Amino acid sequence: MAIPKDARITLDPEEIPKRWYNLAADLQPLAPPLNPVTKEPAKPEDFAPIFCKAIIEQEASTERYIDIPEEVRDALINLNRPSPLQRAYRLEKYLKTPAKIYFKREDMSPLGSHKGNTALAQAYYNAEAGIHTLTTETGAGQWGTALAMVSNLFDIDTTVFMVKGSYNQKPFRKTLMNMYGAKVYASPSEYTEFGKKVLKEHPDTTGSLGIAISEACELATKDEGTCYALGSVLNHVMLHQTVIGEETMLQMQKAEVEPDYMVACVGGGSNFAGFTFPMMAEKLKGKSETEIIAVEPKAAPSLTEGEFRYDYGDTGGITPLLMMYTLGSEFVPKSIHAGGLRYHGMSPLVSAAYDEHLLSAVAYDQTETFEAGVMFAKTEGIVAAPESCHAIKGAIDKALECKANNEEKTIVFCLSGHGFLDLYGYEQYMDGTLPSSSIDNY
Ligand SMILES: *Cc1c(COP(=O)(O)O)cnc(C)c1O
Repeated sequence: MAIPKDARITLDPEEIPKRWYNLAADLQPLAPPLNPVTKEPAKPEDFAPIFCKAIIEQEASTERYIDIPEEVRDALINLNRPSPLQRAYRLEKYLKTPAKIYFKREDMSPLGSHKGNTALAQAYYNAEAGIHTLTTETGAGQWGTALAMVSNLFDIDTTVFMVKGSYNQKPFRKTLMNMYGAKVYASPSEYTEFGKKVLKEHPDTTGSLGIAISEACELATKDEGTCYALGSVLNHVMLHQTVIGEETMLQMQKAEVEPDYMVACVGGGSNFAGFTFPMMAEKLKGKSETEIIAVEPKAAPSLTEGEFRYDYGDTGGITPLLMMYTLGSEFVPKSIHAGGLRYHGMSPLVSAAYDEHLLSAVAYDQTETFEAGVMFAKTEGIVAAPESCHAIKGAIDKALECKANNEEKTIVFCLSGHGFLDLYGYEQYMDGTLPSSSIDNY
């Protein structure tokens, strides 16, 4: 039997997208970020202590398409772009579902996740602006790893605040960041004023992304040549990630794949946004009926249980207020293995799209997501990141629904990263010691 043409849909390097798609152009008017002190709409100069000019402009841009600089396109090749879109035949067979399941392979980046797509763009613009150091936070470590690596391409130093829970759970992530030349601190740390304050009040805290963001921003505001880089949440990050969705749209068109569902996990929303926003553009034009599904952890259910209101992006209350679905900036999620999904809020663009009913959301317990991840490893041979296991679980549930209704629908999900550095979580699942997210003291 010949290999079916949709088994693995690849693109040539010259098919790397030439421009990013900006959903903000099609969702106007958007509620602007507010200055944290005056509570008035933030001015571009409010962001100047932490971001360079090009990034501030992109953050507020309402242009529908923004050209990707040549240097960034060239470097995307180092991240193994374009990434394949692949069919999960064995998973389909195992589930005995009439549904077709495809997945977009962000796990094939040498950095292990989709995070490099925006890290590259941010490092490029900061280098152009003469910045010598970037500070950032990282949850599971994928973002810190991505920024640490790409900073080398543009001769920038990196300082990373890593959420303490992950720092202790994932020591090899730290090794990797150190190999790429980054300085890494467990957050909350003694290295910043805010970190010291949190440690004094909560000496045993496992930390959170919100706390780590406060620490990284504090450093950036203290030095002219230092800027801050965020791995998710903000509009410019969603923008940079749309290379994922643009490639996927082209691949689906080439292989005549018409998705009934597109599924991705959401932490701050960037792989979801990157993967689905180009399809949302089609939906907004009335040209697509694809149902778009965001999958979040029960431990940080900002879309399914949060409120749509202004809130701080960090825990210390030093970032601008963002209009988003939030559990409250004081919310400290349980220390689940999917560290990248432990965030109290949600990208304002994803939030606005949710408010416009352009997507639906579902939340799962971590035990169910690891079960899905092990099923995926057994059938497809790929070890997915614990975050990505949420998307796999979402896709499997849809495939089982198709089975129950005997419907031959098409499901396309985003495999946001691989899980080779997350084997501790898998080990706990295999041992039967993985705690449910619903246990209170976990
Ligand atoms: C960071 C990360 C996520 C969550 O972040 P988003 O901005 O919501 O995409 C999901 N999957 C992987 C592999 C990650 O590294």
